[in-house]
Amino acid sequence: MPLHVLDHPLAAHIITHLRDHTTKPATFRTLTYQISLLLAIESTADLPTETKAIETPLEKMTGRVLTHQPLVVVPILRAGLGMVQPFTDLFPDVSVGYIGLERDHATAIARSYYRKLPPLAGKRVFVIDPMLATGGSAAHALTAVKEHGAVNPTLVCIVCAPEGVAEVEKHHPGTTIHTAALDRALNAKKYILPGLGDFGDRLYGT
Ligand code: URA
Repeated sequence: MPLHVLDHPLAAHIITHLRDHTTKPATFRTLTYQISLLLAIESTADLPTETKAIETPLEKMTGRVLTHQPLVVVPILRAGLGMVQPFTDLFPDVSVGYIGLERDHATAIARSYYRKLPPLAGKRVFVIDPMLATGGSAAHALTAVKEHGAVNPTLVCIVCAPEGVAEVEKHHPGTTIHTAALDRALNAKKYILPGLGDFGDRLYGT
């Protein structure tokens, strides 16, 4: 499976502060924006471009611009919401779909409670969810976007557990995953170690 882990000193700096339990929600949100911006740039590095003839103030030249292909970003509610803005800032025409999945804290199984997706055929789709833990939610969301016409959706996460990566590969072989960190393992309660705790709680101060 193509697993891309951000390799940049700034990414390491941001992720360390995200992990730190003393980081408060306001700073956590800023750091989430920053790491998601790096991930948005990295995960779109293969977007097609085409030539465009322009004139600089000095001379004519041929540059490159993005080929028009509609992009759709699909956050998994609620924690995925924290990763949306960098995509909309970089790509103002991006559409945003939503998938609401709730993790049962006793069983760690994902339950779907909301789905609002635009038609996805012919579009480049990015499913975004900060924590790839068991992989149940991500696999569920990838199935949902494929049912709406997405082909080869990309998964963008901030922290991954090896178990989650394996689960996605099992149900959606070949899925490209972009992440800022590949952690050690899950604990008995299915939290990522070393991880950063409950992402949604830390983002929203709940
Ligand atoms: N979801 C989180 O927010 N944190 C984890 O460690 C695992 C799942």
